[in-house]
Amino acid sequence: MSAFREDVLSGRVALVTGGATGIGKEIARTLGLHGARVFICSRKVDRLEKSTAELRAEGIDCAWHRCDVRDPDSVSAAVENLLGRGHGLDIVVNNAAGNFPAPISRISPKGFRTVVDIDLLGTYNVSKIAVDAWLRDNGGSIVNISAPFEGKGAALQSHVAAAKAAVDSLTRTCAVEWGRHGIRVNGIAPGHVADTEGVARFTAAAGASGPERIPLGRVGVARDIANSVLFLSTEAASYISGQVWTVDGASSVDQIGMAGRLADMEANWPERES
Ligand code: NAP
Repeated sequence: MSAFREDVLSGRVALVTGGATGIGKEIARTLGLHGARVFICSRKVDRLEKSTAELRAEGIDCAWHRCDVRDPDSVSAAVENLLGRGHGLDIVVNNAAGNFPAPISRISPKGFRTVVDIDLLGTYNVSKIAVDAWLRDNGGSIVNISAPFEGKGAALQSHVAAAKAAVDSLTRTCAVEWGRHGIRVNGIAPGHVADTEGVARFTAAAGASGPERIPLGRVGVARDIANSVLFLSTEAASYISGQVWTVDGASSVDQIGMAGRLADMEANWPERES
């Protein structure tokens, strides 16, 4: 169920990088189910074909192009393919990312660089190429998917945390530089999202953590992230730019991690006013 009319994005075109899997696929689905033509791109053709078929079966106008976001020529070819369809481009979602959990002592320079290249350089490549090719003259919305690591250490995720913090910085600068062209640039920073490969890999390395540590009492799902991107893609967000929103059920603001114990504490609190 959605808070938005199902045609709220009718006539719009959305490019979702990494749109064949996980959160990106749910973003593509949600934008598509609200009327947008969606175009997904990533490296593995089998996954692109399978997800495109699934989304089309749901009535979504979906196309794909193989693309490595680290390679500007590859990104340009994808954007040319998209624009060649003659419907323009309104929404860019930089969702593609690399991730593997490891302590700093076990990450090679190549592994660290790969994540920075996909997450940060990829976001820069796709944004810049989409702006030069279309958005500068037509306006639009860019949403960068990052992660809520700002101001904190992130064990086993040094490479991802560094790259995502830089993506958040890029989000703010792009919003400032491109605002005059009618381009809004925002970020969504998801907490742990259930049923994703990223969380499965992290849980395998670091163990599971349950919903009790999350103030809202449940683990996030891909739809929570997709709905946030949907909102930012509509006219309802027409004056919002340069913001990075954390979507994590308030986990990252629970400084002392007390959320899971509060119900018991309140029930057993001594019968006097403090
Ligand atoms: P995922 O399933 O691993 O998806 C990553 C996607 O990026 C895949 O479709 C992958 O496809 C694509 N990709 C990787 N390298 C690429 C490249 N060089 N060029 C183009 N595409 C590339 O990840 P997810 O868990 O859904 O996460 C989606 C986003 O949310 C990411 O930005 C992630 O950092 C962020 N996030 C996730 C969580 C979570 O709990 N899962 C939490 C915080 C933030 P190919 O391999 O086929 O290229």
